[in-house]
Amino acid sequence: MFGPSPTAWIERLIRMPRSRRVYKPAMLLAALDAIDAGATAAHIPLDDLLDRFDDLLERSGLRGDTSKGFQPAYHLSDSGAPSSPVPFWSLRRGATAVHGLAKPGSNGALRRAADAVALLPPLAVEVETLDARQAVREAIYDLLERDGDPDCLALVRAHDVSYADVQADQQRLRERLLQPFRLDDPAPRRCLARREQRSRRRAFAAEVLDAYARACALCDLRIQWGDLVEAEAAHIKPHALDGADDVRNGLALCRTHHWSFDRGLWSATDAAVVQVVSPDVAAAQGAAADLGSLQPFRGRRLRPPTLAGARPHRDALAWHWRSLYRGAGGARAE
Ligand SMILES: [Zn+2]
Repeated sequence: MFGPSPTAWIERLIRMPRSRRVYKPAMLLAALDAIDAGATAAHIPLDDLLDRFDDLLERSGLRGDTSKGFQPAYHLSDSGAPSSPVPFWSLRRGATAVHGLAKPGSNGALRRAADAVALLPPLAVEVETLDARQAVREAIYDLLERDGDPDCLALVRAHDVSYADVQADQQRLRERLLQPFRLDDPAPRRCLARREQRSRRRAFAAEVLDAYARACALCDLRIQWGDLVEAEAAHIKPHALDGADDVRNGLALCRTHHWSFDRGLWSATDAAVVQVVSPDVAAAQGAAADLGSLQPFRGRRLRPPTLAGARPHRDALAWHWRSLYRGAGGARAE
């Protein structure tokens, strides 16, 4: 009923129609917290659940939305199932399941009809242990962050207790700029626990975007709306290949230029002069290429970061040129 993995059903949860998209993930986080605090999956008192939901939305700065907990509590139940493809729980009153309840109009109306929720079996099993609940939370945070909706980002910031870790990691990145550059991370991100990986990813993104004032280092595009930022923090040597989480191994790039940089369609020499795969090289490799939109950048310099010590390191650029840039052979021939 919930799909093959927690991530899959949480994704469905966030995409579910009706009400604001932040409500249902907030309600599920409230339910997980209630279980941590002593409730069981088979009996989460409704008062506790609604209070936690209100508190969480208030801490997220979504104050005007509190006391709306009846909406997600109902829509996530099998009574609300006709409008919700993924029922997470059934409503209970005492020892009896409440089925087919008409939509209540307030927290009070819901409380009169039910006094607890009982998680349905697939979900109940997924959240049995503390570690499993934490894994579900991490999956929720990941999806909310990827969603990028400002309310969703505010919810993660308010709920995720590891947010202090991000600030500590940002401090570490600043200190690292005073150390000799190492292209490979001595503690590769892939070896870390998921929570530490997320903290490192966020810290790297925050520091790189800050260094480049949230604008693409290639084309200068900058689009921002509150916490929504179009530019992304790109690794020059990818972290998947153990490239360092070091601002000198990073560039702020718009999505198009991040995508094409990761695929080696353009690169930059150690003087940060931009090179673009030429049509001749593409033809020689038998590729039907159209890189016309990139050609105007050829020979330009990447815009440097505001902090001189944060400039892309020549070892990182040399690695990209040597290892990812598709036009390297052609560039040598030119
Ligand atoms: Zn760009």
